[in-house]
Amino acid sequence: MSINWFPGHMAKARRQIEESLKKVDVVIEILDARIPYASKNPMLDHVIGDKPRVVVLNKKDMANNKETDRWINRLKAEGVYPIALNGKEPNVLKKIENTVVEATKEIFERMERKGINPRAIRAMIVGIPNVGKSTIINNIAKRKVAKTGNTPGVTKAQQWIKAGTKMELLDTPGVLWPKFEDESIGQKLSLTGAIKDNVVNLDDIAIFALKFMQEHHLDALKQFYNINIDENTEIVEIFDAIGQSRGFKMSGNEIDYERVTERVIYDTRDAKIGRFTFDLAEGAE
Ligand code: GDP
Repeated sequence: MSINWFPGHMAKARRQIEESLKKVDVVIEILDARIPYASKNPMLDHVIGDKPRVVVLNKKDMANNKETDRWINRLKAEGVYPIALNGKEPNVLKKIENTVVEATKEIFERMERKGINPRAIRAMIVGIPNVGKSTIINNIAKRKVAKTGNTPGVTKAQQWIKAGTKMELLDTPGVLWPKFEDESIGQKLSLTGAIKDNVVNLDDIAIFALKFMQEHHLDALKQFYNINIDENTEIVEIFDAIGQSRGFKMSGNEIDYERVTERVIYDTRDAKIGRFTFDLAEGAE
């Protein structure tokens, strides 16, 4: 699912995306709505320059609605064109098309003033692994395009595909590397499935998830695992309570912490406990 990124991959991805950028009017950057800060590629701002940018907060069905609204406002203030989507829904094309038209309005008005014949708006999709790039391309192209999620950058044989009546899209997305300089960012990326579990310590991810829920979504956590805890309960006691409640025991009636850890990670990742946004719009850099 994910890639191990090396400096060579990163340089290649950057070069390929710079090349593709020359061909498009607008960039559609896909972020995971649960982690709009952590799922941003750190280099993209530099290479996009002042090209219009649509920012999709994808997987909105798994994120917290109020936080998504706050992120939309924040991104608008930053001068990009944000939308929140569930990439699997049928209305994705219309929503992206409307936003792309808005983002490129000035460019096309200028072309019209110069007497240049109108043409389709050219766009490309970029983002780190697992944010939903292929899902969105397939959805708006109304057909299955090649899965390239494991290739850094973009593959060579790019083609334009028609997306609706106003837009043409490069059929392969630009695959960017995730941030990995900061431990808590790594934990968020892992918790949402953007990087491999073996890159980050599983115990740390589960602890991060439990602390986050204890602080921000205590009731959801209590209800989902049917446990009696409060805001001051020690993390190890929360592990115990979940192990007890779920019957995750080893011989000798010891709690099976490994199973608790895995369960917590998967239940959080699949938004079973609730719809959480781990990067709060206020406070994320
Ligand atoms: P890519 O690596 O960026 O191309 O990501 P994919 O398109 O392969 O999507 C990664 C996973 O996220 C897949 O299991 C998709 O089915 C799932 N996915 C994509 N978009 C959404 C969405 O909006 N909501 C939910 N719940 N899942 C999504």
